[in-house]
Amino acid sequence: MKIVKAETILLALPFECGGLPPWGWGGKPANSFDALLVRLETEDGIVGWGEAFSRMEDRALKQMIDDRVLPLVLGRDAREVTRIKHDLEFNLHNFGRVGPVMYGIAGVDIALWDIAGKAARRPLVDLLGGPHADRVEVYASLVRYASEDAVAAAVKRAIGEGYSWIKLHEVSVPVIAAAVEAAGDDARVMLDTNCPWSVEEALDYDRALAGLGLHWLEEPVWPPENYAGLARVRAAGNHAIASGENAGSLFDFVAMHDAGAIDIAQPDVAKTGGVTELVRIANYCHANGLSFSPHCALFGPGQIATIHLTAAERRPPLFERLYLDFETELFGRAAVVVDGHLSVPRGPGLGVDPDPEVVDRYRI
Ligand SMILES: [Mg+2]
Repeated sequence: MKIVKAETILLALPFECGGLPPWGWGGKPANSFDALLVRLETEDGIVGWGEAFSRMEDRALKQMIDDRVLPLVLGRDAREVTRIKHDLEFNLHNFGRVGPVMYGIAGVDIALWDIAGKAARRPLVDLLGGPHADRVEVYASLVRYASEDAVAAAVKRAIGEGYSWIKLHEVSVPVIAAAVEAAGDDARVMLDTNCPWSVEEALDYDRALAGLGLHWLEEPVWPPENYAGLARVRAAGNHAIASGENAGSLFDFVAMHDAGAIDIAQPDVAKTGGVTELVRIANYCHANGLSFSPHCALFGPGQIATIHLTAAERRPPLFERLYLDFETELFGRAAVVVDGHLSVPRGPGLGVDPDPEVVDRYRI
């Protein structure tokens, strides 16, 4: 199962979200999300698809993975999934344990698991021990609206479409309160703030939000690796604290837990070492009384891999999907939420490949 071809394909997928153009990502806000695909092909013609986290049409990231990561994969035996991952991490650790290098390694790992499933003619979830669910419950992860009326309307719309769980990306107490009121008894609400506050500010907001019954408070403190600061907010006892989408490996979650920083661990399969690393993090969570609830703002194979990882949990966590409509879906109906749920693909490997016509149309 020698790997004879390894390439990345960068897509920018346009969408409508009805809110603000989400997040600047250090550049001009845009209503499109990248899917940076990693495509591996074996000598016997099996093609595996992975995804590296990417935003803002990141050609530099694509080039780095092409030049530094993929040459180390060519010629390797695709069956050596954890061995390849270890070798990549060991050889490249001087270039960062969180960020672009690890995104590339994650993409390779996901593609190797896809190949493993295709070679075994079994879906990824079966390789992870088999499904505990045929479909996973999705939470509507709303973009930021920064308006009481607009966020309330979005909450009502999501509930009307069948969602029972909603996550906000707001930082204004009146806007958050308006969303919670709009949800009423029809949906539970989580809040993701994306690391805006000092510890003192976060403690103030934590108190101000305490009466709203939020299901969790996500990344309230800057910077994301300020675990001691996060632990101070958690110690106030007002909210369950969720974090981890900016982590690089299992050891970051060990550090978070040792600091008393989190209740809910949120590794991202396309940032944090792929399927292999997420399985390790899930096991660590089980052994240490943490909830495992993967972050997913991915729209390529990383999203599909996260569905499998979710379904493989004895108590499948909620699945995150950003609440927006793509101009065209990369996987057809496979990643379209119906009545607040996504089905677990039953085809071999990830169970669904990117639509080649969509890849051609949105390729950078
Ligand atoms: Mg988040």
